Amino acid sequence: MDGVENRISHIDVVFIAHGHLDHYGNLDLSEKAQGMASRVIVERHNFTEFVPVEDGMEIAERVKVVYTPGDTVGHASVVVNSVVTAGGFGIRSRIVLAGDAVISVKYFGQRKLCDI
Ligand SMILES: [Zn+2]
Repeated sequence: MDGVENRISHIDVVFIAHGHLDHYGNLDLSEKAQGMASRVIVERHNFTEFVPVEDGMEIAERVKVVYTPGDTVGHASVVVNSVVTAGGFGIRSRIVLAGDAVISVKYFGQRKLCDI
């Protein structure tokens, strides 16, 4: 557990994608990290110390929150825009941390989002 605790101490922000306990149950492990979630999640779970995030809000440089369907109300994903530089070329990439917006490999193959 020491290795895990050491890594957690370096985390500045924890973004909660949705309101299932397995996604936010160990938040107290990090005393330093600022919690963030969609406004709906913050209000429903009474996360009084969290920053409520709106759809489209930039929460860090090139990191934006997008409200998405998911397996609870208030689900949100995080989009990271980056440029990887290699051999003198810059390659733009967009990475989406989709939480539970896509709930299975089958759904992903069908380009289907969670539809609760
Ligand atoms: Zn879930």
